[in-house]
Amino acid sequence: MATIIDGKKISAEIRAEIAEEVKTMKESGVCPGLAVIIVGEDPASKVYVRNKGRACAEVGIYSEIIEMPAETAEAELLAKIEELNAREEIHGILVQLPLPKHINEKAVIAAILPEKDVDAFSEGNVGKIMIGNHSFLPCTPAGVMELLHRSGIEIAGKRAVVIGRSNIVGKPQAMLLLHEDATVTVCHSKTQNLAEITKTADILVVAIGKADFVTGDMVKAGAAVIDVGMNRKADGKLTGDVDFESIFPVAGAITPVPGGVGPMTITMLLKNTVTAAKQKK
Ligand code: NAP
Repeated sequence: MATIIDGKKISAEIRAEIAEEVKTMKESGVCPGLAVIIVGEDPASKVYVRNKGRACAEVGIYSEIIEMPAETAEAELLAKIEELNAREEIHGILVQLPLPKHINEKAVIAAILPEKDVDAFSEGNVGKIMIGNHSFLPCTPAGVMELLHRSGIEIAGKRAVVIGRSNIVGKPQAMLLLHEDATVTVCHSKTQNLAEITKTADILVVAIGKADFVTGDMVKAGAAVIDVGMNRKADGKLTGDVDFESIFPVAGAITPVPGGVGPMTITMLLKNTVTAAKQKK
């Protein structure tokens, strides 16, 4: 039977540490500040942005939510980013994705000053992750690493398999595990004999976006299974990419959905904002 990795609890511990750090920073005259830009009316994005604002308030970080209409021109958004780049009290800038189709996401991300790119999506920050010389780590993979560390799961020398190779989750995840001396295999939609590979994993990170895709027969006994997936079922309930029921009796540790990786993502954003403010100081 697996131990459940409680992302809510670990996230609360880290947020308490961040709140302490912010308190000390404020005593020395610096208040970390985050600006979150949302363009359009996507309901899921609105919820994410609201949650980010709330999480900032909880730990004492100043936050500004900038809502722009869906028809905002790219130039207007770029001008807003320029304005935020220049503001001293804003240490982190995040543009909620996806953006409306007429706006070039790459150009928007590139416009954020690298030292304020707390999502670590810019080409420069992604490159730094490759060479292990980063200022910020992308929030979701960084959150996964924290879950592993704080659950006492050994990484060095272990076999790690990551399913998914997106730029924001799978690829940086593989790199972070590699930096910590795991032997890493990355799988994707063209991978053949997926189950044969996943069964070799001591650590299995799943980020594909397909509900309950990985089942117990694909998992090695005692493995740590980290489910990054967030999928909505027909009944509106949230579910991950792994089939919790069939994996729970086989794995050594598993993250639930909800309550696993999800809460860690925003926590890592708070951490990056504090790092940005410290670097500025
Ligand atoms: P993505 O950009 O759609 O990438 C999905 C990856 O999964 C791709 O690399 C794809 O392979 C691979 N894949 C798809 N079907 C597969 C299959 N049958 N077998 C093996 N690999 C397969 O997704 P993402 O942005 O990385 O997100 C993945 C999941 O994580 C989603 O459910 C998303 O909602 C969730 N997520 C959660 C958080 C959080 O905070 N918890 C944050 C970000 C994302 P190809 O490259 O070959 O197409």
